[in-house]
Amino acid sequence: RAKRAVTDKVCYYDRSMDEGRRERSALAMELRHALERDEFELYYQPQLDMKTGEVTAYEALLRWHHRERGIVAPEEFIPIAEENGLIIPIGEWVLKTACAEVAGWRKPYKIAVNIAAAQLVQADLTKVVHETLLSTGLAASRLELEITEASIIEDRDRALHVVRQLKALGVTIAMDDYGVGYSSLSTLQIFPFDRVKIDRSFVEDVSNDSAAAAIVRATILLANDLRIPVLAEGVEKRESFEFLRAEGCTEMQGFLFGRPLPLSEIASLVGRNEAPGNMRSELQRSSA
Ligand code: C2E
Ligand code: MG
Ligand code: MG
Ligand code: MG
Repeated sequence: RAKRAVTDKVCYYDRSMDEGRRERSALAMELRHALERDEFELYYQPQLDMKTGEVTAYEALLRWHHRERGIVAPEEFIPIAEENGLIIPIGEWVLKTACAEVAGWRKPYKIAVNIAAAQLVQADLTKVVHETLLSTGLAASRLELEITEASIIEDRDRALHVVRQLKALGVTIAMDDYGVGYSSLSTLQIFPFDRVKIDRSFVEDVSNDSAAAAIVRATILLANDLRIPVLAEGVEKRESFEFLRAEGCTEMQGFLFGRPLPLSEIASLVGRNEAPGNMRSELQRSSA
């Protein structure tokens, strides 16, 4: 009897795993058509400089409008896109769309764009970035690329080479999700980062978790000593903000200041004077 119960359990478990796998491969199939069906949209979340209290930049965050599922979060589909290589064309779409949209804002905010590991080691990222800046007319100094440690671990020399090439174009580079990867300390020494973003997982508990607080405090000190500006992401609570400010963190991003929003909802904040329709057809023409 006991044996049978175990068998039943295993069968049940297997079936649910199959379902998960089927779900993933269904998403992967649909993801292939998402670009041509124009189902992606960028949301924008403000980054603030606490010395002035002003918004200095917006991070572009990808959203997928799925016909049946509604909005699918990037944490669900980015890993799939990374697995099957679609992250390359999707990442290119993100870069082009972000630069084109931001070039139409009257206020000269910077735009931060996430770059996946596969994009960084891809042969022509520098060329794609360069061409995007030329075709959209966006000044290189207004573009920041956010890369994670995962991109660096695979091939450190190659990554360093590409980062230097990108910086030579005049764009800036941020280390995203700092603290959750490996080799953090030497990475900051070797790579010429313009900004370090402390991962949200440390920031969210910073006011009542002493270990998280220690990591955040040490990161701010280290970044200050290395003269790298440091930004805390995921600032949701007033107490986190107070802690970070007291520790000398001058840049912040989080729901406390603003959630990621579609362009239509921040249009008045960024001084956008073109209609979204115009922007999109412009972009399609230039990439056709
Ligand atoms: P990330 O680059 O670290 O982006 C920050 C994430 O934290 C965003 O989640 C943002 O909505 C969320 N966030 C910001 N402030 C708060 C807060 O106060 N509270 C909470 N709970 N969350 C906050 P999102 O938009 O779901 O994106 C998740 C991740 O997906 C990103 O993390 C990034 O790694 C990836 N991603 C998003 N867009 C792109 C993209 O265009 N390309 C690539 N390669 N990855 C992307
Ligand atoms: Mg990011
Ligand atoms: Mg991050
Ligand atoms: Mg993250």
